[in-house]
Amino acid sequence: MTGNTFTDTFRHKGLRKKLTEIVRNKGIKDENVLKAMETVPRHWFFDSGFLEFAYEDKAFPIAAGQTISQPYTVAFQTQLLEVKKGDKILEVGTGSGYQASILYQMGAKVFSVERQRLLSTKAKEMLPEAGYLVKVFFGDGYKGLPAFAPFDKIIVTAGAPFIPEPLTAQLKPGGILVIPLDDLESQIMTTITKLADGQLVSRQHGRFRFVPLLGNKAQE
Ligand code: SAM
Repeated sequence: MTGNTFTDTFRHKGLRKKLTEIVRNKGIKDENVLKAMETVPRHWFFDSGFLEFAYEDKAFPIAAGQTISQPYTVAFQTQLLEVKKGDKILEVGTGSGYQASILYQMGAKVFSVERQRLLSTKAKEMLPEAGYLVKVFFGDGYKGLPAFAPFDKIIVTAGAPFIPEPLTAQLKPGGILVIPLDDLESQIMTTITKLADGQLVSRQHGRFRFVPLLGNKAQE
């Protein structure tokens, strides 16, 4: 919703508090994640005709056939990232910019890459207007962002058929990559931790449903 004034009424705040409680009751324990979710106005990332859907715990269509992820999924991925103030984080799949704003709200330096030109242009305009100083790039997230590497954490917000090697290469020792893996209808949420000696340790965290991480070519 670029060009809009960013209003945040008592009603919005109340709905957000309720949504945060829903996410807490589903098992999210990281208080910093919950606080960010209660603070960032999710309705700012929706087109104005759909504001009433912003505080449901559901994914929702955005432009270019993509989705803003379900709030619980955003909270779950963010909790797995173990975000600390000052962390340098790469997000693959900017979409609406909501996930990136949650990370920024938590004190991270956020770099986000999106392969749909329309979404990346919208996010580049809207995020600074809303006060979220995220660096947004148009490009193919399979390649990461080598010019800005290494990163403390990397989060992929689309379903990946495999772990892109550039992403693990761009992770600092001690860093964490969160990536939904599989090209089936649903994906296994996976964390890859890079040990001090460069070894990668993988853990699985249940199934989620994402739009696919698409290959090779950024879309004009
Ligand atoms: N994080 C987003 C948010 O908070 O709104 C939701 C992301 S949406 C579920 C997945 C996004 O990944 C889509 O915007 C899609 O265009 C993007 N995507 C798919 N393949 C990509 C790629 N290879 N590189 C970068 N972005 C990609």
